[in-house]
Amino acid sequence: MNDCIFCKIASGSIPSRKVADTEDMYAFEDTNPQAPVHILIIPKRHIDSTLSLKKEDAELIGRITILANEIAVSKGLDRTGFRLLTNTGRNAGQSVFHLHYHLLGGRTMEWPPG
Ligand code: 5GP
Ligand code: ZN
Repeated sequence: MNDCIFCKIASGSIPSRKVADTEDMYAFEDTNPQAPVHILIIPKRHIDSTLSLKKEDAELIGRITILANEIAVSKGLDRTGFRLLTNTGRNAGQSVFHLHYHLLGGRTMEWPPG
C-alpha cells in the first residue's frame, strides 16, 4: 500500500491537479486525459478495486457518485451528459490498483466501449 501512487496523491506527497477534496474522498485531473474533461475520483483510504468493497463501503460509494454529479454540474456536463466508470482487473484495463472512478465528458462517447 505504501507504494500506491493514488495513496500518495490522496495524501499530497505526489502533486496533482485538485478538483475536490473531502474528509474521505479526493478528485483530481487525469494526467493522460481521454476526453476534454477527465477527472479521477478516489476514496482516500486504500481499496484495491471494486472487488475489495465490503457492505459497509456502500455509503462511501454512494457519496462518490454524488460527488461525481456535483463535479459534473460544476463543469456544465449535466447539460450534455458524461460517463462515470471504474475498471476492475486486467481485462477491463485497470492499471492503478487503488479504486478510482473516471468522470469523462465534453465529447460524445461511443458504446460499446473498446
Ligand atoms: P485505470 O487504467 O487504472 O482505470 O486508470 C488509471 C488512470 O490513472 C489512467 O487514466 C492514468 O492516466 C491515470 N494516472 C496514472 N498515474 C497518474 C498520476 O500520477 N497522476 C494522475 N493525475 N493520473 C494518473
Ligand atoms: Zn492506494
